[in-house]
Amino acid sequence: MIAYDTDNIFAKILRGEIPATRVYEDDETLAFMDIMPRADGHLLVIPKTPCRNVLDATPEQLSAVMKTVQKMGNAVMAAFAADGVTIQQFNEAAGGQEVFHLHFHVLPRHEGVKMRA
Ligand code: ADP
Repeated sequence: MIAYDTDNIFAKILRGEIPATRVYEDDETLAFMDIMPRADGHLLVIPKTPCRNVLDATPEQLSAVMKTVQKMGNAVMAAFAADGVTIQQFNEAAGGQEVFHLHFHVLPRHEGVKMRA
């Protein structure tokens, strides 16, 4: 298992070292807007505790994060009058991961509208 890197950008957001548009927070998780949204309302959900991705997550981290993902999915459905929600998650560079702190993408979707690249 690859060690957690405390210098990753989401760890810096959690420590308040760089800004983020925070939209939801509880004891275990944080949701904030993606800086390069691929759809209007694209947000990210992360655990507050160190975790590289799903492969090293504890059951408690996965449970907390998925509860917040579900909350945010329903919130963006309402806030953006969406027709659906895409939930995405990548593991390791070969799996498409670029920031190495566990995160789930929550993307509101509308019929006939493609996600931006
Ligand atoms: P990918 O870039 O392939 O989606 P990840 O799943 O690792 O890979 O996603 C990282 C996400 O983090 C990207 O959508 C990117 O726009 C977002 N991001 C990077 N830096 C910031 C930041 N400072 N604040 C908010 N979102 C960020």
